[in-house]
Amino acid sequence: MNKRLTVKFATLTACFERLEATSSQNEMTTLLARLLAAATPDEIGIVCYVVLGAIGPGYSDVNLGIGDRTTAAAIALAAGTDPAPVEAAARELGDYGDVAVRLIATPATGPLPVADVHRGLVEIAGASGPGSVEVKKNALAALLTAATPPERRYLSRLAAGEMRLGVGEMTLLDALAEAFLGSKAERPALEHAYNISSDIGLVARMLLEEGLPGVQAIAVTLHRPIRPMLTQRVARISEILERIGSPVIAVEEKYDGERIQAHKDGDDVTLFSRRLTDVTGQYPDIVRHVRRSISVDTAILDGEAVAFDHATGTYRPFQTLMRRRRKHRVSEVADEVPATYRAFDLLYADGESYLCRSYPDRRARLEEILVGDEHISPAGRIVTGDADGITAFYLSCIERGLEGIVCKSCAEDSFYRAGAREWQWIKWKSDYAPGISDTLDLVVIGASAGRGKRAGTYGSVLCAAYNHEEDLFQTVCGMGTGFSDVDLADLPRRLAGARVDRQPARAMVNPQAAPDFWFEPRYVVEVLGLEITQSPVHTCNWDPERRRGLALRFPRFVRWRDEKGPEEATTAAEIAAIFRRRWGV
Ligand code: ATP
Repeated sequence: MNKRLTVKFATLTACFERLEATSSQNEMTTLLARLLAAATPDEIGIVCYVVLGAIGPGYSDVNLGIGDRTTAAAIALAAGTDPAPVEAAARELGDYGDVAVRLIATPATGPLPVADVHRGLVEIAGASGPGSVEVKKNALAALLTAATPPERRYLSRLAAGEMRLGVGEMTLLDALAEAFLGSKAERPALEHAYNISSDIGLVARMLLEEGLPGVQAIAVTLHRPIRPMLTQRVARISEILERIGSPVIAVEEKYDGERIQAHKDGDDVTLFSRRLTDVTGQYPDIVRHVRRSISVDTAILDGEAVAFDHATGTYRPFQTLMRRRRKHRVSEVADEVPATYRAFDLLYADGESYLCRSYPDRRARLEEILVGDEHISPAGRIVTGDADGITAFYLSCIERGLEGIVCKSCAEDSFYRAGAREWQWIKWKSDYAPGISDTLDLVVIGASAGRGKRAGTYGSVLCAAYNHEEDLFQTVCGMGTGFSDVDLADLPRRLAGARVDRQPARAMVNPQAAPDFWFEPRYVVEVLGLEITQSPVHTCNWDPERRRGLALRFPRFVRWRDEKGPEEATTAAEIAAIFRRRWGV
């Protein structure tokens, strides 16, 4: 049995080195399980965050925010050199971790306890205001000076936001299940707690301290985001009713804006983006609308921020709203592009979670407590059991400049399934391409070297879907078309942060499709394609007996989806569903 002593940062870095060296996902889980099993209750959360390249839960503002320049300056200070040699080494090695190991020569003062490293990093993150860059640089340099070479490597990567271990939340939950519940088959119980808390460190701590009952007691809490429920898609609009399976369904307007989860706690309002980052500062107008228009003291709403032009009564394009994504001159831009909030769900009200209430109950209560006006209102919708009614409403949405519809089950068990993509919610958007009723969001895991006109950039990128069950990224296509010249030239810079030396453990790639360069699954790209076909090359839904997977034909670049994480990409199961429906198999 493992004895729990204070974990040294060096134990973590030794594990990280082994994680980077393995290409087996099972081994990765086992290595992590061993590491987690040895941690104390005070440390286990920290270990989880650091493995994911962070120092706190994703939604918290405990963000290192140091960036390349300050990291480089701290390395220079610890190495006793000017910034110039650090920058030269960074250009050569492409990794601040390797730069720190090469340039800092002072003897380490001894292995650092994880908790001390974490405390130091939290202080660095907390420094703000004038002179804070200097404070951050000095504090990081002090940590780097005391550290051993492998510790320096990972401290620098952590600070620069480039851990590149290739470990995702699901792998970590698998490892927790293996370490404390005997098998990764137990992951769903942990996943549920993670979905409603968005804090894997909390799940780990409760699991270690109180076992499964502790994890099950994790409840919805204000100012802590719930992972959003997602939609499925179908090949034909006529399939929607049957797929959802309730006699009547709600057909809601689908807005092309930014998903916002609003937490109201008296006058205190917090807003979270789809990726669960705190965007309260970006939307002072929505904060005001929520504070003013919700008649209960505490509530959590799910909805969409849209740029609606009240003068013309039309929706402005997504790109217009994206001008609100900024930290400076917020109020000026808020005046130019005011945001309207369309609430489509109620997750919590007056101290009670609504997640396990049916959609009709949640919606009824939403309408009671939301005293709407033109700035904030429940999503427009109809309730129907008639297929023609759905089509007519869809067409009216398109006419009004909306993106499409989202159809929702009205059955008794139509609970809010945090973090899940199930058949209770189905979206239908205007057709982009015959055969496929929507674009796919794929993860870039590789690239081929550019030749001829593309010398100096990449020729094509290797794109993968996310297989949630197996926690793998499986290839779907190589994509070289649709890029503008500017997009193309920018590819190496855009993907540089995810470059790794070897095939990432969670990337499943057939040797014939092996790229010249590998990327840790991080960047999500929206791809348009003609149809899904079977393929002996691509590994999406790989059938080992028939040696066939699924591929996307004629892929074309549409845009980068930086607001999505790799695990939020289109899943292998969704692609299988598109294929089956298209070919009736
Ligand atoms: P898309 O690219 O189609 O916006 P997505 O991949 O970001 O979708 P999905 O869950 O597949 O996410 O699609 C639902 C998205 O549509 C939600 O994330 C939300 O932002 C948006 N949306 C707009 N209107 C609604 C609505 N009435 N109900 C649910 N989601 C809605």
